[in-house]
Amino acid sequence: MSQIIILGAGFGGLSSANELHRLLGDKHKIILIDRKKKFSVGASNLWVMLGKRSRESCEKEISLIENKGIKFVNEDIVDINTDEKRVYTTTNYFKYDYLIIALGTELYPEAVMGFKESALNLYEMAGAHDISQEIEKFYRGRIVILMRQDFFLMNTSGIMEEGRMSVLLYALLSHSHYLQQEKQVVS
Ligand SMILES: Cc1cc2nc3c(=O)[nH]c(=O)nc-3n(C[C@H](O)[C@H](O)[C@H](O)COP(=O)(O)OP(=O)(O)OC[C@H]3O[C@@H](n4cnc5c(N)ncnc54)[C@H](O)[C@@H]3O)c2cc1C
Repeated sequence: MSQIIILGAGFGGLSSANELHRLLGDKHKIILIDRKKKFSVGASNLWVMLGKRSRESCEKEISLIENKGIKFVNEDIVDINTDEKRVYTTTNYFKYDYLIIALGTELYPEAVMGFKESALNLYEMAGAHDISQEIEKFYRGRIVILMRQDFFLMNTSGIMEEGRMSVLLYALLSHSHYLQQEKQVVS
């Protein structure tokens, strides 16, 4: 029996775990490690931001995957030793025969001066929830939506790429949401 360790229970990690379990059944042991307890689809942040769905209704306990026989470890991954084939977490270590690294991206809000102090971040579920709370209080004023400059660039065939489109969609949808509520937005 081999031991497969998957680092990160986001999109990549969860789909790898499910697919490997489908292909291998219980013949091999799969261990999934993530510091988060809950998973949500990034696109659902939009519903939460607009108050159309609660944060709780969009999040699922990752530990539910244990019903399939996949072990879930809810800890921070602090080191990978490829010579010893070990992954170290805050309180433990796990030996692997095969390793999948699906740790996603790390946000770095400090890179934009003043962002942490003054901006709300739609990229995170907690940020989307905070935006919904602010929307409740907001009556009139100016909202600035920050996007990376290259979100507006076209690819070589002149078509806006999917990631850029979805951010633009967020902006447009929030705009129409405000209009519905007769609140004024300048973006
Ligand atoms: C608001 C929003 C909307 C989006 N819309 C779309 C869309 O419409 N279409 C689309 O294709 N994509 C969309 N995305 C992007 C999509 O969510 C990402 O591309 C995808 O989540 C990347 O998957 P991943 O497995 O690489 O990383 P993630 O899903 O980010 O998973 C990484 C996991 O690793 C964990 N982790 C990281 N470091 C550690 C550590 N040291 N210890 C323990 N755990 C750790 C994290 O907690 C996280 O759960 C959207 C994202 C957001 C936020």
